[in-house]
Amino acid sequence: MFDYSVFAKELKELEENGLLVRIKTLESPQGAWLTINGKKVLNMCSNNYLGFAFRDELKSAAIDAIKKWGVGPGAVRTIAGTLSVHDDLERELAEFKKVEATLVLQSGFNANQAVIPAITTAEDAILSDELNHASIIDGVRLSKAKRYVWKHRDAEDLEEKLKQAREEGARRLLVITDGVFSMDGDLAPLPEIVDKCEKYGAMLMVDDAHGEGVLGSHGRGIVDHFDLHGRVDIEVGTLSKAFGVVGGFVAGKKELIDYLKQKARPFLFSSSLSPAETGAALAAVRILQNDDTPVKKLWENARYFKEKMQAMGFDTGHSETPITPVMLYDAKLSSQFSVRLFEEGIFAQSIGYPTVPKGKARIRVMISAAHTKEDLDFALDKFEKVGRELGVLK
Ligand SMILES: *Cc1c(COP(=O)(O)O)cnc(C)c1O
Repeated sequence: MFDYSVFAKELKELEENGLLVRIKTLESPQGAWLTINGKKVLNMCSNNYLGFAFRDELKSAAIDAIKKWGVGPGAVRTIAGTLSVHDDLERELAEFKKVEATLVLQSGFNANQAVIPAITTAEDAILSDELNHASIIDGVRLSKAKRYVWKHRDAEDLEEKLKQAREEGARRLLVITDGVFSMDGDLAPLPEIVDKCEKYGAMLMVDDAHGEGVLGSHGRGIVDHFDLHGRVDIEVGTLSKAFGVVGGFVAGKKELIDYLKQKARPFLFSSSLSPAETGAALAAVRILQNDDTPVKKLWENARYFKEKMQAMGFDTGHSETPITPVMLYDAKLSSQFSVRLFEEGIFAQSIGYPTVPKGKARIRVMISAAHTKEDLDFALDKFEKVGRELGVLK
């Protein structure tokens, strides 16, 4: 029999180094307030930016889809698993995103696995921002293309790497960046990146998981935010954050999407979103298409919270989005801060190495349109209390 003590030993090491993830189980739906271990706490951790995860229109759309289509897709999309609700979602999402076509995958993670290896070979080069998301890194690993990593948000360094890749004989150049970097809430300098890509004839792909439903008019994402429609080749997005459901997508030219339908392995070899998920995601797209009040509310909340935190004397980093890092730098202090907040009724997680660099520990606060002003005032009060108690605020 296999000696499982090797796993036990590694788990113990993780625990000793303060790196063991302790998974909290929610006893309530995903909303502004959660019940965890019987305790009511304010949710400041989720990616449910617009409160859609528990919104009535999405719940009814999921129920209606189950009544109409049942619970499972029955097969992969290419064999017998494409329902007309999948086509409806892809068409309306493309209209919303102002692109020719979209392809919906099981998750944002899978969307990266779908697109990156499908469009690159050993003759090509992939250029990736050093802080790109793990799902991009894994997608790149599935490709035989040569890799070049450029300094975070540094378009000049990107240009150096583009030159180098050309000199080293690359056929196709694929530049990949996160749109919003999820730990700091900073944005890719997309206009400059677009210029470099156009100069070197590179394809540009943006994974905008934290920008979809957040940035741009009606939450159309970072391409809309910078008014770069038609100048970014590939947008990858998720339906599991602001859209409130689950799933991922690739958006771009019709030729690209048609090609992916023939070549993308997560599309060809894994079944699709269920009818309930697809119906709910379609409802989310329709709400955003018609109404940008949830997006406006999200930004209003984020501005209010950040301004008050800064006025109190907290260091909130250099976020340009509703992601609000509360920089504490020291990992022990950060984790102690999070524990004290939880005792005070606030669920906001501490994030340390290796998710962020050593010495850059922080509490990452995720603001949502689901928060009321009273919720935010409650949080501000508790942050001030714990901040004074732990000597972060003077
Ligand atoms: C969250 C995230 C993903 C994964 O999305 P899922 O739909 O949860 O799989 C991919 N890329 C980035 C940049 C993300 O932040």
